[in-house]
Amino acid sequence: MTQAPLPTNELARLAALHQCHILNTPAESAFDDITRLAAHICGVSIAMVSLVDADRQWFKSKVGIEVNETPREIAFCAHAILQREILIVPDAAADERFTTNLLVTAEPHVRFYAGVPLITLEGHALGTLCVIDRVPRILSPEQIEGLEILARQVVKQLELRRNLDALERSAVESKQTVRKRIGFASSVISFAGITAALMALSAIFYQSAIDFQQQPWSQALHSDSTVRFLAATCLGFVILSLLFYLGYAELQKRYYAEETLEQERDFTAAVLDTVGALVLVLDAKGRIVRFNRNCEQTTGHAFAEIRHRLFWDILLLPQDVEPVKAVFADLKAGQFPNAHENAWMTKTGEQRLIAWSNTALLDDDGAVEYVIGTGIDITERKQAENALRKSEATNRALVEAIPDLMIRMTKDGTYLDFIPAKSFTVLKPHNEMRGRNIHEVMPPDIAQQRIHYTQKALQTGETQVYEFQLLRDDKACTEEARIVVSGEDEVLVMVRDISDRKQAEEALFQLAAIVESSCDAIIGVALDGKITSWNAGATKIYGYSAEETRGRSAIVLLAVSTHSNEWLEMIADENPAQYLNYCETQHSRKDGKWIDVALTISPVRDAAGNRTGASIIARDISDRRAMERMKDEFISVVSHELRTPLTSLKGSLSLLQTGQIGSLSAKGQRMLEIAFSSADRLGVLINNILDLERLGSSQSLLTKQTFDVTDLMQQVVSEMQLSAEKANIAVSIASASTQLHADRDRLVQVLTNLLSNAIKFSPPGTTVWLTAALTQETSEKSEPGVGAPNPAVTVQPNPSSASNLTLNLQHTQTQHTQSLTPGTLLLTVKDQGRGIPTDKLEVIFDRFQQVDASDARQRGGTGLGLTICRSIVEQHGGQIWAESVLGKGSTFYITLPIDIAMPRSPALLQGQTEVEVKR
Ligand code: ADP
Repeated sequence: MTQAPLPTNELARLAALHQCHILNTPAESAFDDITRLAAHICGVSIAMVSLVDADRQWFKSKVGIEVNETPREIAFCAHAILQREILIVPDAAADERFTTNLLVTAEPHVRFYAGVPLITLEGHALGTLCVIDRVPRILSPEQIEGLEILARQVVKQLELRRNLDALERSAVESKQTVRKRIGFASSVISFAGITAALMALSAIFYQSAIDFQQQPWSQALHSDSTVRFLAATCLGFVILSLLFYLGYAELQKRYYAEETLEQERDFTAAVLDTVGALVLVLDAKGRIVRFNRNCEQTTGHAFAEIRHRLFWDILLLPQDVEPVKAVFADLKAGQFPNAHENAWMTKTGEQRLIAWSNTALLDDDGAVEYVIGTGIDITERKQAENALRKSEATNRALVEAIPDLMIRMTKDGTYLDFIPAKSFTVLKPHNEMRGRNIHEVMPPDIAQQRIHYTQKALQTGETQVYEFQLLRDDKACTEEARIVVSGEDEVLVMVRDISDRKQAEEALFQLAAIVESSCDAIIGVALDGKITSWNAGATKIYGYSAEETRGRSAIVLLAVSTHSNEWLEMIADENPAQYLNYCETQHSRKDGKWIDVALTISPVRDAAGNRTGASIIARDISDRRAMERMKDEFISVVSHELRTPLTSLKGSLSLLQTGQIGSLSAKGQRMLEIAFSSADRLGVLINNILDLERLGSSQSLLTKQTFDVTDLMQQVVSEMQLSAEKANIAVSIASASTQLHADRDRLVQVLTNLLSNAIKFSPPGTTVWLTAALTQETSEKSEPGVGAPNPAVTVQPNPSSASNLTLNLQHTQTQHTQSLTPGTLLLTVKDQGRGIPTDKLEVIFDRFQQVDASDARQRGGTGLGLTICRSIVEQHGGQIWAESVLGKGSTFYITLPIDIAMPRSPALLQGQTEVEVKR
């Protein structure tokens, strides 16, 4: 450690310091405000006004530190007062003058020091205004300038104090001298004058009285007594002259004393006028006695105009007048010295804020005779402070609003400030971060990378932005760091967790890649139908590039003839339920060729849920359509080419069977029957296959008509009556008399197949029930759900009314609930046959599926009937399923929506039809 040498003018410097009479005085707001401001400006925690005394530095004002003084040999300020400019120690630990200094190695652990010497007009550095921090730092040119301005304010305060002191002393001394002299002179004069006059007058009156009693006036003038009288008179005059001389001499002295006083007054006035402060002297009644030039300049009032007027009438704001008057009404010496701030009103009505330091001059009795106020106009300083406070509040709000982790860091990675992020936790507690180095707190690779970008930012002056990954709470996070230069060798690092953004970007990127690589055309349209996006698939299908389509109407571009209204309605419609979201249509390509497309159209919404347009996914189904056309042609060809020879084959076999061509042997007859049955089966098979293909093809259009369900059921029963009789099976039908809008022939086909199976798989002597019922909700209706029990849908005659059949929806089965709503017709075919194993209940609806492989041989059938049934029912928007108890029988259920647009005839709803087909 190097101890600072003494300044060359040390003795004079100390004398100047002591003249200020400031050492060991209490804290004053005038100094404290400046100190606080210095700390704010430099962004440090410690600031003080330090006065360097003979063997100590004493703090007139301080923030961030408790002690009042330290020994001079360890004082940084002792170094600072050796120079005329600011002394800056960026890092005391690295400065050999201070490395072992007690203030550095122990509390308060000074690392940074900047002190501006407080130099008086005569050139004496009395101390410093200094700022201190516990971490290394540097000051910006603006901060240095601010500190220097404040130091000048401190010097003014000190000068003022010194001048005031001198002024007070000179005023008091002058006053006492004059008083003494005038007192002496007047007492001497009065005493001497009166004495001489008395003496002369007594002599005159004494002699006159004798002479005028004894002789006439003319004689009396020549007698001895006259001589004595004259002598006495002369003596009286001599004494009188002497006394007058003495009086005159005293008056001369008084004149000189007054002249000296006048000169001192002029000198004082000159001093008052030149000091940088406002000086106001008031008498005990509050009348203005002195008003220096600075007061005149600040207020616009000339001293001559306001002399002897009450100062509050002229200078104070209305609200301040009464309190001040009250103070003057009861002035006490003990109230001084004091300090306060108040506002003065200038002649032009402007307000100036003044910081006052007041003292009192007392008379011989110790009563307040004069009040001397010295003030500094702090309007601008206050405004600056307010502006600073505001900007600090703004900065704080900004910092609060920024979710990022913020670090102020030196170029070697020392953390000067650390503000934790709002949105994520940091690796170490933030209160431990200040003063630490990045290498201590971050993984080496991340620390190294940050130093690299910090140096780059400092070299280029450009903001550096980079991303990095790190493990936080065992979770891989992606973060983004922005490094901004914030001073010489200092940067601000802002770190943000962008993991979510990265994931979203990744997802978006993938989505974009999917859209781009899709073979389907994916087109975005705005609410007015204009194209907003166009993927590669769309280019492939339609031939237009994305650029060619942007902003053009999709309807015009693709020559959407059919469905164009639906398109527009769909895009503009508020209710997505109304959306036509799938259709097959034709579009034109760029080359004019028409293509078949399948469209899926969905609304697109913004984040707030408002519709912004629609997405159109178009699939080119031209090839599929061509295949379907080929298949249809093939089916019609096959249908003709297979059926024709089969018909002639069956005709020939029938002819043989009649025996018209000749009789056959019993064996031949049997072979003929086999051939006949095989031809029948082949015929059924061909019909079934063709049916299936037709149902799946574009040609499969339902021919709907309106008919009564009871009629339908009677038709089915009569068609199957022969088979039932043959098998000795009774068929019972119970039907709700309701109108249905459907393809009657197809439904006959379905019910015939189910009835045929029921007869086929029932033992003789049993009954098959065919029922049709309308659904009706009951109070126990349950919500559909996974694992719901098998349907306990019961179809029964309505006990309250014998006129109709109702379906009680007590339980609903998961996959069939959709159709079991009011307005649904339920058809059932129930038998008492062998039943179907549970695991086969669904399988039997697949192609060529039979429960028993021997069924085809023993009972006939192709395993295609139920497949065809399901296809027909689903084309009607209905459902079909089976339930069964092995050995007890099976029930097949069909639900069909009743076309609600079609009114039901009340007449037709009357009456239940029951047909009993007797065995
Ligand atoms: P098939 O022409 O063979 O009757 P289906 O598709 O109509 O073809 O029936 C498929 C299989 O389902 C039948 O072969 C039979 O094994 C079973 N099946 C259909 N209905 C019943 C029923 N009511 N009772 C028992 N089993 C049945």
